[in-house]
Amino acid sequence: MRILLVEDEENIREVVRINLEMEDYEVIAAEDGRKAIKFFREQHFDLIILDVMLPELDGFQVCEQIRLSNLEVPIIFLTAKDTSADRIAGLRRGADDYLTKPFHLEELLLRVRNLLKRTTKPNEESLTSYSFGNNKVDFKTYQAEGNPGSFTLTKKEAMLLKLLIDRKNEVVSRQQILQSVWGYDVYPSTRTIDNFILSFRKYFEEDPKVPQHFLSVRGVGYKFVEDRG
Ligand code: CA
Repeated sequence: MRILLVEDEENIREVVRINLEMEDYEVIAAEDGRKAIKFFREQHFDLIILDVMLPELDGFQVCEQIRLSNLEVPIIFLTAKDTSADRIAGLRRGADDYLTKPFHLEELLLRVRNLLKRTTKPNEESLTSYSFGNNKVDFKTYQAEGNPGSFTLTKKEAMLLKLLIDRKNEVVSRQQILQSVWGYDVYPSTRTIDNFILSFRKYFEEDPKVPQHFLSVRGVGYKFVEDRG
């Protein structure tokens, strides 16, 4: 599970980071709002811990930006203010939880755990097969049905396909694809990913030249859509 931690106070940031890492979360830290938005656009996160008082963009503005493109990722606000007006403002802007400083680390960890449990879709990990249009994919056996009839996907094809389908309707950046499918050690060129997408269109699109399911989002990445209508 990857967590984006946005906090400008170094002491708090480091203590929270260390404690989350001890719980086996992967933590990416940002010390201001602009960086937070940049990281969010480039990478995948399962949860965001967001300080309200930040230099440049405050936590509320960061939350608004994130919610424009993602309504699902859970967000916990951290704030020194403890007025009910602030709470309401925060929650209205799409936060899922709210913690007032100073807070107990145990409480933060508990809320992180609960939110992740609540938002992890039960079928996400167990997605073993998927059908769309006239196509079918079995992620366990790599067997697929599509334009070529019945055929077998390569392991990488199956991984990339599963990633895109897990994040249906969401733009998946090239960086996220590299991270999830290729890992950190091997870096294929962007063209390699493009070629995978071209293959998917040949396998699964009615007209590969006019893709309905595997869309490119110029300069950002790719998006799987089940039904454009
Ligand atoms: Ca702050």
